[in-house]
Amino acid sequence: MEDNRAESVEQIRLRLFSWWERNARDLPWRFGRTTPWGVLVSEVMSQQTQMSRVVPYWTDWMETWPDAASLAGAGKAEVITAWGRLGYPRRALRLRECAKVVSGEYDDRLPRTYQELVDLPGIGDYTASAVMSFAHGERIAVIDTNIRRVLSRVFLGIESLGGSTTSAERELARSVLPEDDPQARSSGGTGDGGLVGRLGGADEQARPTAWREPASAEWNQGLMELGATVCTARKPACRICPLADHCRFLEAGLPDLGMKRTRPRQRFAGTNRQVRGKILQALRQSEKGRISRVRVEEVCQDRIQLDLCIASLDEDGLLVIGKDGSLKLPE
Ligand code: SF4
Repeated sequence: MEDNRAESVEQIRLRLFSWWERNARDLPWRFGRTTPWGVLVSEVMSQQTQMSRVVPYWTDWMETWPDAASLAGAGKAEVITAWGRLGYPRRALRLRECAKVVSGEYDDRLPRTYQELVDLPGIGDYTASAVMSFAHGERIAVIDTNIRRVLSRVFLGIESLGGSTTSAERELARSVLPEDDPQARSSGGTGDGGLVGRLGGADEQARPTAWREPASAEWNQGLMELGATVCTARKPACRICPLADHCRFLEAGLPDLGMKRTRPRQRFAGTNRQVRGKILQALRQSEKGRISRVRVEEVCQDRIQLDLCIASLDEDGLLVIGKDGSLKLPE
């Protein structure tokens, strides 16, 4: 029985690796074309935002602030403006705080241990694990919503229930994580002590053909990609899925498909999130990062909601309220 399971896990890995090889999206922070810092920026930007939407923001951001030291020296207003419409703009200020710690305490190089990473401002378990795996090439199970969904469906035949990650889910992720060939890590890029590094010049735009990364990193990325593009929450494309022959969830007839949501999907129109976004957008588009009260009131006719949103943006340090009710981006 144990032998059968091991064989099946091995088959699943081989299929996923082969699929990843042919289908991985060519995102600019993949395949060793950026620094560990660049990987961290991509991960922070991708939280709650689709990766494909992140690409132009990440590209501009890394051109302006290629490392932690340059971001640490940027003003808050600049950073909030560059964050554009990525959403959840507090992340921009937290990233700047993180940059200050990395440049001040770690000599502008991302720390190499999980504990040091997770202690950085704004960096949680997922981002620390992702950087350890994708940037430093360490063997660690990365667990995000997509990975939880795929693992649960394929190996357990049930939907992942959402909410906090359970110890059983962590154990499952750890138990199927492939071992790494020690040679793979050293064959990586030329980065600042990590797996990845700038290749420079014309090559920077192209996926390096000889690129190899540890099996564990490829496994984590492959699962995540499969969950984002094939094994989606509501409409898994089982017909084209490379794991279909081994998927217990498919075998069971997709029981309770999509049931997991513990929180109903929030509508966006009319929410405080939308109004906050509109206020920040008006500030970004204003000439000096400042708008009058009259202009503010054009953003939302519901004064109570408007003032609530202004107060919460003020609390988050994303704007400054003038005595006359005008608003400006922070210095
Ligand atoms: S077969 Fe269907 S449910 Fe199973 S992993 Fe593939 S897409 Fe997901």
